[in-house]
Amino acid sequence: MIQAVKVSLEVLNDRLDPYDHLEEILDKINRWEPKVNAYAYVENMGKLKEDLGRQLKRKGRLSGVIVAVKDNISTSWMPTTAASRMLSGYIPPYNATVIEKLLYEGAVIIGKTNMDEFAMGSTSENTPYGPVHNPWCLDCTAGGSSGGSGAVLAYGGADLALGSDTGGSVRLPAAYTGTVALKPTYGTVSRYGLIPYANSLEQISPMARTVKDLALLYNTIKGDDPRDSTTLGVEQEYPIDRVDPGKTRIAVIRELMDGVDEGILKIFWNTISLLESHGFTIDMVSIKSLRYSLPAYYVIAMAEASSNLARYDGVIHGNRVKECRGYWDCAAKARGEYFGVEVKTRILMGAYVLMEGYSREYYVKATKLRRLIRDSLAKLFKDYQAIISPVSPILPPKLGEKLEDPVKMYTMDVMTVTANLAGIPALVQPAGIISGFPIGIQWMGPVFSESRLFGLASIVEDEVGVITPLQ
Ligand code: GLN
Repeated sequence: MIQAVKVSLEVLNDRLDPYDHLEEILDKINRWEPKVNAYAYVENMGKLKEDLGRQLKRKGRLSGVIVAVKDNISTSWMPTTAASRMLSGYIPPYNATVIEKLLYEGAVIIGKTNMDEFAMGSTSENTPYGPVHNPWCLDCTAGGSSGGSGAVLAYGGADLALGSDTGGSVRLPAAYTGTVALKPTYGTVSRYGLIPYANSLEQISPMARTVKDLALLYNTIKGDDPRDSTTLGVEQEYPIDRVDPGKTRIAVIRELMDGVDEGILKIFWNTISLLESHGFTIDMVSIKSLRYSLPAYYVIAMAEASSNLARYDGVIHGNRVKECRGYWDCAAKARGEYFGVEVKTRILMGAYVLMEGYSREYYVKATKLRRLIRDSLAKLFKDYQAIISPVSPILPPKLGEKLEDPVKMYTMDVMTVTANLAGIPALVQPAGIISGFPIGIQWMGPVFSESRLFGLASIVEDEVGVITPLQ
């Protein structure tokens, strides 16, 4: 086993007794969960202690490390519901590949985190478990859809966490909770065992409190998987690169700066000055095609969602209603009863953009825009080694505020969806605090540039410091 990344987790450095450490985490969960509601399920203490004893013997790169997992990633001994009543009570017959990898390396899976139903949302409010509250501001959203994973890390309810990112779902929560997250290059992490939303866009994604921990988790879960034909046969480690400022040109994209909150801008430009003082060259450039990222993303995501979710018929897949007769009656009743409003909307919209007669207008056009966006970024990366941008145009909204108007919620993703359309890696980290809110910045680079992004983020982290867990 290669220990590619120096570990910052104290439990791994033997500075903490692993059993005390577990108890401390459970203590924090007891203290914070009534206010934050970030876990959908927490394993009981007895089972966790057993797991810990067994996992410590493995001596893997995560031995004794406590990991929280988003509720749409399959675990064979814990419920996996994707926060949908359609799947309540479901315990998968197998583990996701990423779970197998975590267990192999000695991790202890503490529980499943709350999220938007089927990962559709930006606020972690579309959930039958009740909304996730942001530990920094209890009546604000923690972002979504992996808001539970972000919130748990922010208050110290786990060492590391997994989320999934289809259009920003680990990055928005990271920005809103003062944690770090990586949406990896498409195809570097297996999706086997991830309950699908939009296959061509999403990746299971690591979340942590420090860049080192993030790199460690990414290196644990990445890799080719014969069970997922979209994984790439590239077996390499992604250590944290030492980035040479003299050889690194960074682009700020004008189209990703529109309508951004003043406080967020302040932190963003402070970060730019900091990087300039390190000797980086930073230019403002324009990529017109990025104006179409958001509409292209939502058309493609909804199209894929409608075809993915067609499997839930309440007969073969998903929960069955008590009273129904025949396949179509049972399917209609189960879907009517168990899917939430946002999920129903997306299935209908997705079916619409795929309909004969409309698909050329919408779906086919969106895929063409996607190609345009991907090509213009590839061109940019000939001259620039990375892009830096804000993560969200706004501070964490109050809970309830975005629910009335889904389009307003969709615009929260305007800076994050581009990386999913292009399949490139994107890392979010905290860069400061303003009016009591942590503010994130986003790094993007060409495919497979994770090591460089870790290196760039480390430079900022060394200056800004680590801002969670909260007390
Ligand atoms: N908010 C976006 C959506 O609802 C992204 C969600 C995600 O990344 N899973 O589609």
